[in-house]
Amino acid sequence: MKKKFDVVVVGAGTGGCMAAKTVADAGFEVCLIDRKRRENVGDKVCGDAIGKHHFDNLGLSYPVGEELEREMVGIKIYSPDGETVFNVEGEGLYGFMVNRHLFGQRLLKIATDAGATFIESTQALKPIIKDHFVTGVLTKNLKTGEEVTLSSQIVVEASGLSAVLRTKLPPEIGIDTTILKEDVVVCYREIRKLKEQISDTKFCEIYLNPQFAPGGYSWVFPESETKVNVGLGVVTSGGSPNPKKQLYNYILSKQLFKDSSIVTGGGGQVPTRRPLDCMIGNGVAIIGDAACQVNPIHGGGMGPSMTGGALAGKTIVEAMGNDDVSRSELWPYNASYMQSYGAKQAGLDVFRLFLQGLSDDDLNYGMKYRMITEKDFLKASMGEDVRLNLTEKTIRVLRGVKKLSFLKKLRETASLLKRMREHYQSYPTSPQDFGEWKKKTRHLVQEAVKMRVAP
Ligand SMILES: Cc1cc2nc3c(=O)[nH]c(=O)nc-3n(C[C@H](O)[C@H](O)[C@H](O)COP(=O)(O)OP(=O)(O)OC[C@H]3O[C@@H](n4cnc5c(N)ncnc54)[C@H](O)[C@@H]3O)c2cc1C
Repeated sequence: MKKKFDVVVVGAGTGGCMAAKTVADAGFEVCLIDRKRRENVGDKVCGDAIGKHHFDNLGLSYPVGEELEREMVGIKIYSPDGETVFNVEGEGLYGFMVNRHLFGQRLLKIATDAGATFIESTQALKPIIKDHFVTGVLTKNLKTGEEVTLSSQIVVEASGLSAVLRTKLPPEIGIDTTILKEDVVVCYREIRKLKEQISDTKFCEIYLNPQFAPGGYSWVFPESETKVNVGLGVVTSGGSPNPKKQLYNYILSKQLFKDSSIVTGGGGQVPTRRPLDCMIGNGVAIIGDAACQVNPIHGGGMGPSMTGGALAGKTIVEAMGNDDVSRSELWPYNASYMQSYGAKQAGLDVFRLFLQGLSDDDLNYGMKYRMITEKDFLKASMGEDVRLNLTEKTIRVLRGVKKLSFLKKLRETASLLKRMREHYQSYPTSPQDFGEWKKKTRHLVQEAVKMRVAP
């Protein structure tokens, strides 16, 4: 077996396949490894929903045939008391429910068609570090148990939330190795066949309820009139309930699921925060869930991971062309991701922290009196500013029910979200100014966390 490549990509998920394709397209020798067998690549517990704009931005053709479960036009968001429903639809929310397995298989084929060598059933154990550079990966063949070192000029860490390489990088590489458990949502999801027919399959449904889904939400995403993807996520912190129990108690007990049957079920975790402050080091780039490239509000990470893969791939091609894979040469990947999707993500992280601090009551009032309208909610979810809809009547009602502190928090959140996004848009273009930028990031995040707990 060949053991030396230009680039080794660890993890053939959505992000890894896109990085491998981008680098292989430029003629470099790429090795893509996954601990899964080839036929299982793409088979992942997921909500299976992805926006059309990701395909447009990446030049990928839309899913068709069996890969496409259904097209969707928007989301219905239910308040905890079920009395208010936001119908959020529009360009940014138009998208697809995909057959995740077949979608993953297509991405793998795109990578191998571009020339990447795929090695299945191969688990990455740790990064190899030489002279302050990542120079390869120690791997284990899961069929034979044999350990093999794959050497390369650059290693792409795309192993998902487990981040097997990132968590083992030494401090000299300059990448954060750990993330807070409060920034991770743990989910349980099932695909279910229904006895009853769903009347409207064009909308994905999201149920907000801090009591039964603290720090997360539950979802019902139709895949056809009689098949749904249904799940529930809770923030991973001390005392959080078991998401499977919560799903059974509060969602699957609804009339819609009477006499329904399970097709498949399982758990998973999503990082729901801003991206890692720095996603590169000498000889290494981090993408996808391993770099926390996920929308912090709805947990969608397929699109951002592919964006991360494509942007990292582009920078890697340039660095390899210049024969220099140092931190400063790989820096443009950091800057390009932060100034595009990262800035949106960081702003939404502020909004996520705000939402996680709300009670059922706050959400019921906020939605009932439309303190943010559906249209503005859509804009905010696309990374634009949160605009408040404060009529005289809303302010009177909130004063009457003693909820003016909620209003104050919402105002402060909207302002902080804007500042956070602007801060990411001015991400340093070279490593020299990174220290200052990181310091300011820490202050802004602390501000958001403080605001969440403030009465
Ligand atoms: C319950 C749930 C619901 C979700 N719903 C949605 C949704 O509706 N829409 C959406 O866009 N996103 C959703 N996401 C998030 C989305 O699935 C991820 O953000 C996305 O898959 C990240 O892609 P990735 O390439 O970084 O990692 P992954 O797709 O997780 O791929 C990582 C790959 O690395 C491999 N790997 C791991 N460790 C090793 C190792 N040591 N050695 C070799 N290979 C390894 C794995 O086998 C896997 O193939 C959801 C996630 C969960 C858990």
